[in-house]
Amino acid sequence: MNPVLSDLQRSDLNHVWHPCSQMKDYEEFPPIVIKSGKGIYLYDENGKEYIDAVSSWWVNLFGHANERINTALANQASQLEHVIFANFTHKPAVLLAEKLAEITPEGLTKVFFADNGSSAIEIALKMSFQYHIQNNKPNKKRFLALTDAYHGETLGALSLGGVGLYNEIFQPLLLNTVRAQGPDCFRCPFNEEPSSCSTPCISFIEEKLIQHHEELAAVIVEPLIQAAAGMKMYPPGYLNKLKQLCLQYDIHLIADEVAVGFGRTGTMFACEQAGITPDFMCLSKGLTGGYLPLSAVMTTDDVYNAFYDEYETMKAFFHSHSYTGNPLACRVALEVLRIFEDEPYIEEIQKKGAYMQELASKVFNHQPYIGEYRQTGLVGAIELVKDKATKEPFPSGERIGYKIYRIALEKGLLLRPLGNVLYFMPPYVISKEEIKRMIHITNEAIQQFFKNSQADSVMQEV
Ligand SMILES: *Cc1c(COP(=O)(O)O)cnc(C)c1O
Repeated sequence: MNPVLSDLQRSDLNHVWHPCSQMKDYEEFPPIVIKSGKGIYLYDENGKEYIDAVSSWWVNLFGHANERINTALANQASQLEHVIFANFTHKPAVLLAEKLAEITPEGLTKVFFADNGSSAIEIALKMSFQYHIQNNKPNKKRFLALTDAYHGETLGALSLGGVGLYNEIFQPLLLNTVRAQGPDCFRCPFNEEPSSCSTPCISFIEEKLIQHHEELAAVIVEPLIQAAAGMKMYPPGYLNKLKQLCLQYDIHLIADEVAVGFGRTGTMFACEQAGITPDFMCLSKGLTGGYLPLSAVMTTDDVYNAFYDEYETMKAFFHSHSYTGNPLACRVALEVLRIFEDEPYIEEIQKKGAYMQELASKVFNHQPYIGEYRQTGLVGAIELVKDKATKEPFPSGERIGYKIYRIALEKGLLLRPLGNVLYFMPPYVISKEEIKRMIHITNEAIQQFFKNSQADSVMQEV
């Protein structure tokens, strides 16, 4: 059954290749043409309204068409859209760098700009590797990453990833990453309770460090939430222990806060909850409040100074992107940070988070096909399971999450799950009333799906 297509949909399908999509799916489910957005809402070409419960892939903070950001962007556009960033600079980049150094953990004093999360990861990897060479440790050329990690799609970043869906086919092209089993609180191998957890699973990393520390340049983690893995959450104590291990074995710690930075976890940065300063902190997504592509790699004086010398020593970091330090993106990011300064959003996130957690736990936790509802800050996740007692997952081929997503979309809610995990990551401007509606529609979609699928299996049995 082919749906009726609008002109834009037809042209789209003729020419556009969409991200992370099997384009054949679009035959029966054509792309939704979004015409405008306001606050937490998106509007398609037919005027249908959707709650953007995933902040348009985790980037939006203060709503679509935010007036303050719009004004800052328009003013900047009328003044300077872009300029080469080698030997040149401009006010938005300088003020932004200054503010980032101020608000990130103590000791992160230097900023290197790029334009997406993956590039920020590549920069951290290259800097760490080159740092060790320039400190006479050329053997330190491998990286340690966790199972279920996600750090982006470029080949270096993809090498770090532990989600087979994204990188399995590319294995022959990837760096030889040291892999350690990461935290898995939902299916904890030590049967620890989250509230009293002493993070014994850090031993998995420790074993790898004992074995490989001489050849390791850096360890990379997603602090507190392994997001793309399905919003897998773990306690801050894990990060404290990891930081100690990195110090002990002379290995850099790269905190990939691309998804969790800028308030998502209830603090400005997730690392704050552990009170640690990593050697590199990668930031993107929320940095521009969902407006423009920009990323930043924060690092220390120690790293910076290892590159600082006479030109002839060739110790410089010879890396650039055409749009490094783009003034429009920097100006928007600066406005985002000013909004955080002027308005109590961190408190709001904590309050709204508490409300969301209470309501969602009540609605979802007792249901037969929901293994658990978990939450950190303003990220909530529903883990669907085939068997609640054994936590056996639904086979990925059944595309349970995707099917529920399709039902929710019809009801005006944009969820975009990760496999069997449905999650909420709404813009911070969402109201309590809207949180309630988001949870209600999600529940309806889940109920409808399992009712239909039970009906289906009864039909098959007959
Ligand atoms: C999204 C993401 C990236 C990659 O960022 P892009 O801008 O999509 O390249 C890296 N790390 C984490 C943790 C992410 O969530």
